[in-house]
Amino acid sequence: MSDTRHTKVLIIGSGPAGYTAGVYASRAMLSPILVQGIEPGGQLTTTTDVENWPGESAIQGPDLMVKMEAHAKDMGCEIIGDIIVDLDLSKRPFTAKGDSGTIYTADAVILATGARAKWLGLPSEEKFKGFGVSACATCDGFFYRGEEIVVIGGGNTAVEEALFLTNFATKVTLIHRRDELRAEKILINRLMKNEKITPLWDNQLEEVLGDENPTGVTGVRSRNVKTGEITVTPAKGVFIAIGHAPASELVKDVLETHMGGYVVTKDGNTSTSIPGVFAAGDLTDHIYRQAVTSAGMGCMAALDAERFLAESED
Ligand code: FAD
Ligand code: NAP
Repeated sequence: MSDTRHTKVLIIGSGPAGYTAGVYASRAMLSPILVQGIEPGGQLTTTTDVENWPGESAIQGPDLMVKMEAHAKDMGCEIIGDIIVDLDLSKRPFTAKGDSGTIYTADAVILATGARAKWLGLPSEEKFKGFGVSACATCDGFFYRGEEIVVIGGGNTAVEEALFLTNFATKVTLIHRRDELRAEKILINRLMKNEKITPLWDNQLEEVLGDENPTGVTGVRSRNVKTGEITVTPAKGVFIAIGHAPASELVKDVLETHMGGYVVTKDGNTSTSIPGVFAAGDLTDHIYRQAVTSAGMGCMAALDAERFLAESED
C-alpha cells in the first residue's frame, strides 16, 4: 500500500537551490519536505575544489553539499531519499509520485531539479559509455592512471576536468571546436601552464575509437572544422564536458520553458506559469549557472512560497 505524505512546501532537488530553499522554508516554520533525487547533493558532488563559494577559499564539492544538507536538516527540513517520477500540477494540493511509491501532496512546490550533463549524441560515444567514455572526471578519472586522456569542450567544466585529470594521466588532450575557450581566465591560465595538457583547437569529435574484446577505448578521431584535416588522438579515457541541459522533464509539458527547456520564471522572483509552483537554480538559469546563484534563487523560492501560502490563507 502506498504511503501518502502531505506538506505545505515540497522541495524537489538537493543541490544548492534545494537545500537553501530547505533552510529558508524551515525557518519560516513551513515544515518542508525535500526529495533528493538520483544525485543527492547535485552537480557539485561530481567535482573536487570549489573556490568561489563565499566564505570558503577552497572546499571539496561533496563536502560543501554534506554541509548544506546538514544545515537544512538542522533547521527542520525533512530530507527524503526518493525520486519524483510524476508530478500533477493541475490542481491544489499538487501531487508528486515518488519512485518509492510514496505520494507527496503539497500546497506549494519548489522545483530545484538542476541540470544534467549533455552528450554529443555519437553512436560510438553511446557504445563506449562506461567503457572509457564518461562525463564525470571526479567519478572516473582514477581508472586512467598512467594513461592518455581526451577531454571534449571549452568551458569551465572541460578546463577543470582537464586539470584534474593530470593527477592521473600521462597526457591530457583538450579538444575544442573553436580556438578560444569560454572558461574563466584564472582556469585558462592554469591550463596553459600545465605541461601535461595539449589543446587541439578547431576540432570536432567524429568518432570514439575502440576495441570490442574486451570493450574499451583506444582513441578518438576528430576533424578540423576549418581545414577538414583529420587527427587521431590515442586515449584510454574520453571525458565529454560540453555543458549541461536543464532537468525539466517533469514539467516541460505544463510549465512555460525556453532556451531548450529552462523553466521560465517571472521577472525578479521565482514564480512559474502556475501559481504556487516556484523554480530555482540551474533549472531556470541559462546564464549564470553557479552554486551561489542557485542558492540565492533557492532562498527566493522559499520566501516566494511563504508569501504565496500566507496570501492563500487570507
Ligand atoms: P543541481 O546541483 O543540478 O541539483 C539538482 C538536484 O535535483 C539533484 O539533487 C538531483 O538529484 C535532483 N533531481 C533531479 N531530478 C529529480 C527528480 N525527478 N526528483 C527528485 N530530485 C531530482 N558552480 C560554482 O559556483 N562553482 C564551482 O566550482 C562549480 N563547479 C562545477 C563543476 C562541475 C563538474 C559542474 C558540473 C558544475 C559546477 N558548478 C560550479 C555549477 C554548479 O554545480 C551548479 O550551478 C549548481 O549545482 C546548480 O544547483 P541546483 O541546485 O540548481 O541543481
Ligand atoms: P558551458 O559553459 O556551456 O560550455 C560548454 C562547452 O562545450 C563550450 O566550450 C562549447 O563550445 C562546447 N560544446 C557545446 N556543445 C558542443 C558540441 N556539440 N560539440 C563540441 N563542443 C561543444 O558548460 P560547462 O563548462 O559545463 O559550464 C556550465 C556552467 O557551470 C557554466 O555557467 C559554468 O560557469 C559553471 N561552472 C562553473 C565552474 C566554476 O565556477 N569553477 C566550474 C564548472 C562549471 P563553444 O564554446 O564553442 O560554445
